[in-house]
Amino acid sequence: MDLPAEIARRRTFAIISHPDAGKTTLTEKFLLYGGAIQMAGQVRAKGEARRTRSDFMQMEKDRGISVSASAMSFEFADYWFNLVDTPGHSDFSEDTYRTLTAVDAAVMVIDGAKGVESQTQKLFEVCRMRDLPILTFCNKMDRESRDTFEIIDEIQENLAIDVTPASWPIGVGRDFLGCYDMLNDRLELMDRADRNTVAESVSINGLDDPKLAEHIPADLLEKLVEEVEMVRELMPAFDQQAFLDGTLTPIWFGSAINSFGVQELMRGIGDFGPEPQVRPAEPRQVSPDEKKVAGFVFKVQANMDPKHRDRVAFVRLCSGHFKRGMKVHHVRTKKPMAVSNPVLFLASDRELAEEAWAGDIIGIPNHGQLRIGDALTEGEDLRFTGIPSFAPELLQSVRAGDPMKAKHLDKALQQFAEEGAAKIFKPMIGSGAIVGVVGQLQFEVLASRIEMEYGLPVRFEPTQFTSARWVSGPQGEIDRFANTNKGHMATDHDGDHVFLTRLQWDIDRVARDWPELKLTSTKEML
Ligand code: GDP
Repeated sequence: MDLPAEIARRRTFAIISHPDAGKTTLTEKFLLYGGAIQMAGQVRAKGEARRTRSDFMQMEKDRGISVSASAMSFEFADYWFNLVDTPGHSDFSEDTYRTLTAVDAAVMVIDGAKGVESQTQKLFEVCRMRDLPILTFCNKMDRESRDTFEIIDEIQENLAIDVTPASWPIGVGRDFLGCYDMLNDRLELMDRADRNTVAESVSINGLDDPKLAEHIPADLLEKLVEEVEMVRELMPAFDQQAFLDGTLTPIWFGSAINSFGVQELMRGIGDFGPEPQVRPAEPRQVSPDEKKVAGFVFKVQANMDPKHRDRVAFVRLCSGHFKRGMKVHHVRTKKPMAVSNPVLFLASDRELAEEAWAGDIIGIPNHGQLRIGDALTEGEDLRFTGIPSFAPELLQSVRAGDPMKAKHLDKALQQFAEEGAAKIFKPMIGSGAIVGVVGQLQFEVLASRIEMEYGLPVRFEPTQFTSARWVSGPQGEIDRFANTNKGHMATDHDGDHVFLTRLQWDIDRVARDWPELKLTSTKEML
């Protein structure tokens, strides 16, 4: 594929990690080197100021979790990076899964003392399903960490992926001096005194260069030479194709808080990382070098700016050159849509996007027209595939504290369903709605959002159901099935039939008795 230069220099990626491994710190340093800001410390301060303005929930702050994903763009060397933030808490995994459909690569951050943790493992599996290339950053090397070989072994064993060291740490914890750059035969030394400056870099002519001894004490040098020789003998060398196939990950060692190893990692993302990739869609796939613009919504976020009560739909552009003011075709409603105020998220501020290219993430403020999975094109009826919607694992019925306000509650629930924040099922029999989520915390988030945004106190109550399955098959058969199972049937916010139950036995029975019907626990969003 011969991409226009503007597209070829784009790198769109996400960070996957377990909470506390250092994702936020690393992101700040990316922005620091991305020239976005002077001092990394300001990002946090600025970020927090912004958050108190725009975040809908005190809860988010109290619990220190990030409910909302966002996107950031910055430049480094000759590259243009789009970093899509993934919410870290496991209760919001569905959001995270969808975010990972919008990127071409992932950076996996692990804590050098803890190795591969549960959340990392889960997110890794999602990346694997999509064969995403993965770059690994082993963080917190300034603390007591595990033995380097042991860390690499653990990644290879637990994640079944080959690992190739792009750098090799010298010393550990208080003795951590820096890294030997395995790719360029350079010595990168860490400056602990100033966390925001660039680390010192020394050109070295191979491992027997006498200059090494000027910078590294004899015992550490001896260990380094021995280990690097072992690595070169025992571990695979970097192989671009294996990396792009997702079967080999290069690993850098560093300390995000000391800004150490970060630029090397960024260079790695730039030099090795994939260009914007071809996207699966129906009836044909979409290639980034196509002239016409096409993209899909992977995330909808409400209340980013409470003054406007707007929603922002995050769109991954998959092809073409987008310009502000463009009229696009909204495939689901078949209506034209003028995109007059798209935003690019440059560093920590929203900025109006005059133009964007395949690979970029743009935000489109709207009043609810745009939903997750929607395609925008220049006229063609395309549907991007592989954007999943999962069956909720927890179901509760919801009631307005004030029964006179039931209508308002319906409206609120419809909004959250369209945002992808929850599944809303309307039972065939009776009134009210059943809300389905993936994690318990989401009920609390919803309750406080409904109260804050709609002024409606609500109650969640247990239901007799524990599972929901979408029903598909010939329409006549679905209708017949629905009529004989009225007490178990509901419709989702798109009007699709859902079978609610509490017993796996029920699901098995349907499979046996209704061979033409299919019950599924995921539905691809339209
Ligand atoms: P997140 O939950 O993955 O976003 O992690 P944070 O970036 O918030 O980091 C979690 C904690 O680890 C914070 O207290 C950071 O200051 C600390 N931290 C991050 N990177 C490093 C590092 O390289 N070395 C040390 N010692 N601490 C770090």
